[in-house]
Amino acid sequence: MKIALIAHDKKKDEIIELAKEYKEVLACHELFATGTTGTLIMGETSLPIFRMKSGPLGGDQQIGAMLADGNLDLVIFLRDPLTAQPHEPDVSALLRLCDVQKIPLATNAISAKIMLEALKAKVYFE
Ligand code: PGA
Repeated sequence: MKIALIAHDKKKDEIIELAKEYKEVLACHELFATGTTGTLIMGETSLPIFRMKSGPLGGDQQIGAMLADGNLDLVIFLRDPLTAQPHEPDVSALLRLCDVQKIPLATNAISAKIMLEALKAKVYFE
C-alpha cells in the first residue's frame, strides 16, 4: 500500500512515536510524507520515505495531487486542532480529497493506531 504520513508541528513527536511503534508494519509499505515530517521520521526510524516539499510550502498539495491521481491508499495526518495554520486551505483540500477518493484517513494518533493494527493483522480497506 502507499501510505502518506503528515503531522503538524505540535504533533511531530506523536507521529515519530507512532512510526517507531509500527516500524515493522510501515516497512512493508511504500511511504510518502511532507518534508519535515518525513525527515524527522527517517532520522528516528531509518524507514525509507519519499519526501515532498514541506507542508506549508506545497507539500500538502503534492500529497493532494497523489490522492487526486488515485496514487495513495491510506493517509495519516496528525493535525493540530488548536493552532491556526497558514496553509489551512491546503490542509482542507487534502482532507477533502481523501473523502472524494474514499481513502482511509486518520487525523489523530489513536485512529492511526487502529488503522496500523488493521494493517498489521492484514485487514485491508478495499
Ligand atoms: P511538514 O508539513 O511535514 O513539512 O512540517 C506538515 C504540514 O504542516 O502540513
